Amino acid sequence: MLGASAAYHLALAGMRPLVIEANAPAWGASGRNAGMALAGLGGHFDRVTRLVHASGTRSILDYTTRSLDMLEAWDAELPGGIEWDRFGSLDLAVDDVEEAHVRSMAALQADAGLEVRVVDRTELAELAPGLAIDQVRAAKWTPGDAKLNPFRLCYGLLERVRVLGGTVVTGVRVDRLLAGGGRVTGVATSHGEVASGSVLLATNAWTPSLAPHLAANLTPIRETVCVTEMLPFSIGAPGFETNQCNEYWRQMRSGEVVIGGFAVADEGMGIGSYSTRVRSSIPPLLARLLERLHPALSDARIIRCWAGLLDFASLEIPMAGPLPAEDGTPLPGAYVAAGLTGHGHPYAPVLGLLMAELIVSGAPSTLPLAPFDPGRYIGVVHAPTWLEPFLGS
Ligand SMILES: Cc1cc2nc3c(=O)[nH]c(=O)nc-3n(C[C@H](O)[C@H](O)[C@H](O)COP(=O)(O)OP(=O)(O)OC[C@H]3O[C@@H](n4cnc5c(N)ncnc54)[C@H](O)[C@@H]3O)c2cc1C
Repeated sequence: MLGASAAYHLALAGMRPLVIEANAPAWGASGRNAGMALAGLGGHFDRVTRLVHASGTRSILDYTTRSLDMLEAWDAELPGGIEWDRFGSLDLAVDDVEEAHVRSMAALQADAGLEVRVVDRTELAELAPGLAIDQVRAAKWTPGDAKLNPFRLCYGLLERVRVLGGTVVTGVRVDRLLAGGGRVTGVATSHGEVASGSVLLATNAWTPSLAPHLAANLTPIRETVCVTEMLPFSIGAPGFETNQCNEYWRQMRSGEVVIGGFAVADEGMGIGSYSTRVRSSIPPLLARLLERLHPALSDARIIRCWAGLLDFASLEIPMAGPLPAEDGTPLPGAYVAAGLTGHGHPYAPVLGLLMAELIVSGAPSTLPLAPFDPGRYIGVVHAPTWLEPFLGS
């Protein structure tokens, strides 16, 4: 979705981008996610907010809410739309620790300007009929959040890229960057060399294979998603999260419920793995969570499971901007946008736009990219700050 967003904006600006995809569009995390669009970034909000403030006058919400607005516009603009349902999200606390987290996060996010509040039981019952209210200690309501079909998003953007004169090739793997005369000149691929004035790596968890100097600060984490059979009733219009957004679920327009999470119960907590094989221990945990919070789902069958790779940036804030060489010196023509740390939808639209502006004009015009400077991840190994929110309660 990040490469597709950047290519779309490059094409709109009159460039003729070439998207080189090793597999197929949405083969990576962008086609394996649960389709939630959360402006508040789950458990990462606090630390990302501090890093963005330290880089200038902007708030992280300037970026994430802009992405959600862009997604809404794309729903009208892209062929077939993206099944955009801006019905809000509910962050459910099921124990004391989560309640404290939900309340402090609601205060932090409201203070930063997000429309968010803790709702009482009566309102919760109205927002999510059938929810086991007795299991919920507190609930944070973010009315501007949304859900979408991530396949439609990727394919819709790439279809527009083609119409605007760009090219999308699939089944072609980029093996390395080509450089000469102190700048990047193109890429070597499984199908030969391609010359280019600029190369943007939007390769998520696989970025270290092309830029090994980012490996120490970019960690793949396997996460599992399950989908139920179609249900003939609604479990509530909003998207749902719990445990600092480590578990999350939504009902699709067609009636199936998609639920993901419990990476922490995976082998080695799924950390550092490039395998997307589903471990059999995870689906029962996801099923039990659904049954506990939506008793009407106790007989619902899970019909499909898959796993995908999150890419966690060590400091939780993505990297998007010029890609320096290993020793930190500039490498003109090289760019990277990766490390969305589990929140593709609030980041990919706006970062794709800003990367396109940077490539076309030498500087982004809509918002500064300074908070996402990849330089903060070069030549230094940061101990990951994401472990605490990842462990949840
Ligand atoms: C299980 C799961 C659930 C998630 N749930 C949500 C959610 O509900 N909401 C949300 O906002 N985010 C969610 N995310 C995170 C979100 O999906 C990601 O942040 C986002 O998709 C990353 O987009 P991307 O374009 O950077 O990466 P990807 O979608 O992974 O795309 C990278 C692409 O690069 C290609 N590639 C890799 N190496 C090469 C190469 N050498 N040459 C050519 N091509 C290459 C891959 O084939 C892939 O298609 C979830 C992620 C997972 C895994």
